[in-house]
Amino acid sequence: MPTTCALCRRIIPDERIADPQVVQEHHLRPEERADSPTVSLCRPCHKQVHALFTNEELRDDFDTTETLRNADRLQPYLAWIRGTEKLDIDVTTSDHVRERR
Ligand SMILES: [Zn+2]
Ligand SMILES: [Zn+2]
Repeated sequence: MPTTCALCRRIIPDERIADPQVVQEHHLRPEERADSPTVSLCRPCHKQVHALFTNEELRDDFDTTETLRNADRLQPYLAWIRGTEKLDIDVTTSDHVRERR
């Protein structure tokens, strides 16, 4: 069964899932892992989410797939990734996130 990334909605073919890191579980409410729902994200989306949002923001404002998918901050990334087949990208943590670590 191919996996669909909950964020970019790209379908990841089985043969590419041979790399166990390609699909990652994202905890929608980071730091409340015990009762946090999880969604399957492709590796680029997972990296990007954590580069653009602090755990606090994720927990407070973006704890559903819908709010994440509609987040203004993610739109340029989503528009780009949907047009590629990349499953590995370099992500720079935004200053916004870095300053709050
Ligand atoms: Zn994705
Ligand atoms: Zn995550």
